[in-house]
Amino acid sequence: MTALAPQTIFLKDYAEPHHWVETVHLTFALAPRATRVTSKIVFTPNTNNLGDLILNGEQLSLKSVTVNGAPVSYEVTDTHLTVKQADLPCEPFTFEAEVEISPETNTALEGLYMSSGMYCTQCEAEGFRKITYYPDRPDVMAVFTVRVESDLPVMLSNGNPQAAGAGWAEWHDPWPKPAYLFALVAGDLLAHSGSFTTMSGKDVDLNIYVRKGDEDKCAFGMQALIDSMRWDERVYGREYDLDIFNIVAVDDFNMGAMENKGLNIFNSSCVLASPETSTDATFERVEGIIAHEYFHNWTGNRITCRDWFQLCLKEGLTVYRDQMFSGDMRSHAVKRIEEVLQLRARQFREDNGPLAHNVRPESFVEINNFYTATVYEKGAEVIGMLRRLIGDEAYYKGCTLYFDRHDGQAVTIEDWIKVFEEVTGRDLAHFAQWYSQAGTPRLTVNETWDNGTLTLNFTQSTPATPGQEVKKPQVLPIMVGLIAPDGTEVVPSTVLEMTESAQSFTFDGLSERPVASILRDFSAPVILQREMDAKTRAFLLAHDTDPFNTWEMGRMLAKDTLVAMIVDGVEPARDYLDALKTMVTDATKDPAFRALCLALPSQDDMAQTLFDAGVTPDPMAIYEARENLRHILAAELKDDLPALYAANDAGAFKPDADGSGKRSLRMAVLSLLTLNDQGTAAQNLFETADNMTEQAGALTALLSAGIGQEELASFYAQWFHDRLVMDKWFMMQVAAAAPLDAARIAQTLTEHADFSMKNPNRFRAVFGALAGNHGGFHAPDGAAYKLLADWLIQLDPLNPQTTARMCGAFETWKRYDADRGDMITTQLKRILATKGLSGDTTEMVTRILGA
Ligand SMILES: [Zn+2]
Repeated sequence: MTALAPQTIFLKDYAEPHHWVETVHLTFALAPRATRVTSKIVFTPNTNNLGDLILNGEQLSLKSVTVNGAPVSYEVTDTHLTVKQADLPCEPFTFEAEVEISPETNTALEGLYMSSGMYCTQCEAEGFRKITYYPDRPDVMAVFTVRVESDLPVMLSNGNPQAAGAGWAEWHDPWPKPAYLFALVAGDLLAHSGSFTTMSGKDVDLNIYVRKGDEDKCAFGMQALIDSMRWDERVYGREYDLDIFNIVAVDDFNMGAMENKGLNIFNSSCVLASPETSTDATFERVEGIIAHEYFHNWTGNRITCRDWFQLCLKEGLTVYRDQMFSGDMRSHAVKRIEEVLQLRARQFREDNGPLAHNVRPESFVEINNFYTATVYEKGAEVIGMLRRLIGDEAYYKGCTLYFDRHDGQAVTIEDWIKVFEEVTGRDLAHFAQWYSQAGTPRLTVNETWDNGTLTLNFTQSTPATPGQEVKKPQVLPIMVGLIAPDGTEVVPSTVLEMTESAQSFTFDGLSERPVASILRDFSAPVILQREMDAKTRAFLLAHDTDPFNTWEMGRMLAKDTLVAMIVDGVEPARDYLDALKTMVTDATKDPAFRALCLALPSQDDMAQTLFDAGVTPDPMAIYEARENLRHILAAELKDDLPALYAANDAGAFKPDADGSGKRSLRMAVLSLLTLNDQGTAAQNLFETADNMTEQAGALTALLSAGIGQEELASFYAQWFHDRLVMDKWFMMQVAAAAPLDAARIAQTLTEHADFSMKNPNRFRAVFGALAGNHGGFHAPDGAAYKLLADWLIQLDPLNPQTTARMCGAFETWKRYDADRGDMITTQLKRILATKGLSGDTTEMVTRILGA
């Protein structure tokens, strides 16, 4: 047997399978290095596309194969098992096979593997083929019955429990599903239990299964699950459909979490939470991810994707749904700003580099490489734009039609768009181009004023992306409001629909020339290019009724200030400092919002901003200007900081919007205060804090000011037994390191006894933080580039998926000077030249280097 060269798969080549599956019976006799998997699968020939029986299978030791109980001739390669059509019956038949697999040595964490003595699975996208021979493609949906045999006390699979005895348990899932939603867990686990009564009165048992010692960290996740179930009934009319819903926390996991039918498997960092060990950010993430995976029960599981090119159909929609949920649970204004920060930091970065791709890609080598910010976050923005264009009523009507029409099916983006065309009577073909055209549109605007009429003249263009030179205009919902010079809003939020390359919109009957607030709520994922002086920005910062644009004006002032400091070496403008001071000290405003205003643009954001303005970014100059501005702000706010710090003590810890908002402002204030008081307040808080948000916030403030080594050691002594807190300990040191220290600190941490490359969370804690420390990653000696490349080369044979994903750290190499560009491409070529490099990593590095 020889390995096949990696093949590119194209959307246009989609064909239905030769066989459909009716039912699947699986028996697992679990053993760490020799698990026996017996399968009994009823196949039906697909009369639309008759042909050989083609089953996927990788790294399986095949023991036997029969068809209708009799031996059959077949062919096996290292990726497939094929039975010729001529050797098969023309009617439905039963295929049985027995294979052996080795979960204990499976370090790729795909298929069935072991994590701290427990068996678990990860099958999306193509992991099921590492469990047994099967048509491992999402359009093949079947009813699964699973028997697990083991001496472990807890044995779980999808669906409802059917029967159990000493050493075995059987599960039956009545809902047809693709193999990527299969799951199995066995281990010595404890359950934190709850219950939920659905809107039709059905009782559902809820459990979060964890390792001993983690049972006190489940209550928040359970409440988030109950809130999600209620929300999906109330907002989308969708009810849960099994007797039981189980969540399992796993330490070794490549992704955040997985929506397997009735048995969600979570990276423990995305489900466990307690005030002492978790920050507010973790609580918020847990709430959002539990909701996301739960919402997949309808958008992903009951209705799934026809093929992996349609990934955004389930992910974009489900991200949009979890964003709406989090907004309802907390604050829509704050949530929207956080979403845009994420979108710009990850998706715009991707869209403006060599990895740019369509929301629905048209080809791939390894689908694992397309679980991207573009598919997820831009996919969600597209849903949000659709809703803005057609209105709330039509949006929900369309969703209901989608659920009714396609329940139990594997569908496409075309099916999704069609329901909205039907309920609105509109042709959405142009809008659907958002799925097939990559790149971030640039939207420019200028204004003319003539005797009571304001005209907004827009133009749009999208830069070329790899493989797409020519771009067409997109459909853009542009939300606009007008503010009179006295600060009153004369035209409330209105959605303008732009469809052409250049288009003008007029507002008449105005008595005085107003100031336009454009792209309110970030109504389209574009880069808005608008000439605006600091006075106008400050005016909108003070008077705009749209919270996103209010924040955006502060953000633009901060960016302009930093650009001027970097490029011209000038001091920050008075307008900016005064406006920021007014905003931050305004006690009538939401503390979470004020914290977001106080946060400076990231170094990576500034690098992209400079690059877009035609300036080659110098990472050291960006770092220094930003540090300099932090010191200037600390001095400007000298008299206000202690009062703000005291006023935003949230008291007893509650992980709600109110408490976390106050703490976020308090920590942002502390970070500046530490520059004034040599760390006195932060040291004091570090000693006395009763929650991780403040303890870690204090430590970060100290480390960012270049102090705090004693606190760092005592943090370790206090928390070395808690692996999730230890991830923070690793991460904080690298994230807060000064540029010239970052690579050295990361290197030292890899020698620490608690570092393990086999655990994706720990690996990301060090190297994700290094890649995220802009100045440190791009330090002039190139040490960080080399260190990351060294470790990616080591990790690739163990865990190709995580390796490939981490290569994204290098995607911005074209932004920088020739020296840095050369150093990065040298490392990328070194990775690519590694013998036996995985297909995942080969594809990523090749794309980053560009053809
Ligand atoms: Zn998802």
